[in-house]
Amino acid sequence: MQKRFSALVLFLLLAPILPAQNTPSLDALKREAVEETDKLQTFTQQMVDQIFSYSELGFQEFETSRYVTGILEKNGFKVEKGIAGIPTAWVASYGNGKPIIAFITDEDCIPRASQKPGVAYHEPIVEGAPGHGEGHNSGMAVNVTAALVLKKQMEKYHLSGTIRIFPGIAEELVATKAFYVRAGYFKDVDLVLGSHVSNEFSTSYSTGKGNWSGLVSIQYFFHGKAAHAAVAPWEGRSALDAVELMDTAWDFNREHFRLSQRSHRVIINGGDQPNVVPSEAAVWYYFRELDYPHIKSLYELGNTVAESAAKSTGTTVDHKLVGSAWPPFLNKVIAETQQKNIEAVGMPAWTDADQALAKALQKEIGAKVEGLKQKVEPLNDPAKDPMGGGSDDIGDISWNVPMVYLMFPANIPNLPGHSWPNAVAMATPIAHKGSNAGAKVQALTALDFLLRPELVTQAWDYFHNVQTKDVHYEAFLSPDDKPAIEFNKEKMQEFLPDLKKFYYDPSRYKTYLEQLGITYPTVHANP
Ligand SMILES: [Zn+2]
Repeated sequence: MQKRFSALVLFLLLAPILPAQNTPSLDALKREAVEETDKLQTFTQQMVDQIFSYSELGFQEFETSRYVTGILEKNGFKVEKGIAGIPTAWVASYGNGKPIIAFITDEDCIPRASQKPGVAYHEPIVEGAPGHGEGHNSGMAVNVTAALVLKKQMEKYHLSGTIRIFPGIAEELVATKAFYVRAGYFKDVDLVLGSHVSNEFSTSYSTGKGNWSGLVSIQYFFHGKAAHAAVAPWEGRSALDAVELMDTAWDFNREHFRLSQRSHRVIINGGDQPNVVPSEAAVWYYFRELDYPHIKSLYELGNTVAESAAKSTGTTVDHKLVGSAWPPFLNKVIAETQQKNIEAVGMPAWTDADQALAKALQKEIGAKVEGLKQKVEPLNDPAKDPMGGGSDDIGDISWNVPMVYLMFPANIPNLPGHSWPNAVAMATPIAHKGSNAGAKVQALTALDFLLRPELVTQAWDYFHNVQTKDVHYEAFLSPDDKPAIEFNKEKMQEFLPDLKKFYYDPSRYKTYLEQLGITYPTVHANP
C-alpha cells in the first residue's frame, strides 16, 4: 500500500512535468521561430508583392481576401468569411484552448496612389488608380508568416493555445473594427497583437506618442427642390446652399474648440450643373478628438449645425455614420514584452541600393534626406500632453482586449503619408526585409504569451486596473448603423480591368520588380 501510494504521488508529481520535458525552453523555441521565419523569406516577399499588385480600396478587398484566406485554408486554418456583415472580412483560426491570441492588420489601399515600386519619382502603374500609398500590403505578410511559424511549433510541441487572424478591412475609412467588436468577435480573445507598416521598429503603450485621435466619420445628405436656376429659381431650394452654410457655420465654431480638435470635410455631391438648382448635395466630415466625450460632443454639434443649415435653406438633412474609432490605448505589459523582441530581432540590414532609393525619394519630394533608420526605437513613456493626430479603428479593439500595435520598418522615413511616395518602397527589398523582421517579432511575442500564462494575467491586470479603471467603452455605433460596404465599388470597378493586367505572377517572376522590369533602384539621372 505504502509503495503504491508513493508511486501514485510520484506519478502525480511528474504528470505536469512530463509534457514539458518534450517542449524546448522558451529561448530555444524563439531561436527556432527566427530560423523558421527566415526559411519563409520568399513566401513573405511574394505576399508583400502580390497584395501590392492587387491595390484594392476599402470594402473592395475581394482579391486580397481571397488570396490570403486561400493561403490560410491550405495551411489548415479554419476560415469564417463575411463576418460582421462585411463581405471582404473574415477570421482565420488555428489551435485549441487558451490563450487566444489574435493578430490583426489592414489590407486596403489609397485612392490615386498607384506607383511603380523602386522608382524614386512619381510614375503610376495605372494612371489615377488606387495604390498602396500607406503600405497596407505588408501587414498580412507579417501576420500570416508569423502564424505559419507558430502553427508549425504548436503542432510539433503540442502547445496549447489558439491563433486567430483578422484583416483590417477599409481601415482608411475607419469603418469596420467597431463592427467586429459589436458582433462579439473579441469577447473570448486574451490579447491582440496588431501590426502596422512604419519607417521605424517600435511599439508603445497607453496613448504612446500622444499622436492618436479618435473620430467619427459622417456623411450629411441635404435634400432640396430642383428648378431652372434662371427661369424659376424661386421654385427651387438648393441643397448645395445648405452644404455651404453648414461648412461656414462649422468653420465659425473652430475658434472655440480645444486645440486637440481636428475636423475636415470633402463635398461628395455638389450638384450636377449650374443651371439646375441642386436638389441633392452631400458633405462628408471627420470629427476628431482625444476621448469619447469630446468626440461625441463634436458629433452632436455637427448634427445641430447640419439641421440648422437645412432649416435656413428650406431643405432637409439626414446623415449616415460611415466610420468611428476610439483613440487607441495600448497595453504596457505586452508592449514591454514586445520591446525585448524588437531589440533582439533588430533592424534589417539595409543595402546601398535600399538607402539610395530612400535618399533619392526624400530628395525628390523635398523631405529631409536621411535614408532609412538604422536603429530600433526605445520604449518611451507616453506623451504627457497628447495633442492627437491620425486615427485607427483598432482603437475600439484596444478598449475591449489588451492590445499592442507593432510598427515594423518596411517604409521610408519623412514621407507625406496617404499618397504615391508612400508606395515607392512597398514592393522592394525594403518592404520585404521589414516584413520579415516584423514577422519575427509577432511570432516571438506570441510565444512569450503562449508559454508564460502569468503574462496574460498581468496584461489583463493592467487593462482592468489602469486602462479601464475610470474609462468605460461605449460604441459610437448605434444598433442600426451598418457597415458602408458599398463604398469604393465604382471607383474600384473603373480601374479593375487595367489593374488586373499588372497582377503579380509569382509562378513566372521571382519578384514584382522583375515582372515590371524595374531596375532597383530607379532614380533620376542627376539625383
Ligand atoms: Zn494604416
